[in-house]
Amino acid sequence: MSETIFSKIIRREIPADIVYEDDLCLAFKDISPQAPTHILVIPKKPIPRLSDATSNDHVLMGHLLLKVRQVAEEAGLSNGYRVVINNGVDGGQTVDHLHLHILGDRQMQWPPG
Ligand code: 5GP
Repeated sequence: MSETIFSKIIRREIPADIVYEDDLCLAFKDISPQAPTHILVIPKKPIPRLSDATSNDHVLMGHLLLKVRQVAEEAGLSNGYRVVINNGVDGGQTVDHLHLHILGDRQMQWPPG
C-alpha cells in the first residue's frame, strides 16, 4: 500500500475540485493544468503505477477507462481529448498513485514531449 497526496484527496484531507466519484474511483481537476481542461481519474485502490496492476484489477481497469469516457463527455469534450498514463521514471510519473490524465479543449500534438 502506498500513501501519496492522492490518498489524502480521496480521504478529503486536502481539497480538490472533484468532478466525479463512485465506490471505485475519483476524478478531480489537475492543480497544474496542461490544457484548458485537465482532469485526473484515479482508482481509490492505491495502485502505484500501471505496471503494478495485475489481472485481479481487470474490472477496475476497465471501469477507469469507461469513467474517463463519461467524465470527458460531462466536461463537454465533444471535439476529442487525449488520455495519458505516465508510468514510472521514464514515463515522467511524479505521483505514485495510478492516474489517467484527461486533456482537452485544445489541439494536441504528436509526438508528445
Ligand atoms: P504525473 O506527472 O504523475 O503523471 O501527474 C501527476 C499530476 O498530479 C500532475 O499533473 C500534477 O499537476 C497533479 N497534482 C499533483 N499534486 C496535486 C494536488 O495536490 N492536487 C491536484 N489536484 N493535482 C495534483
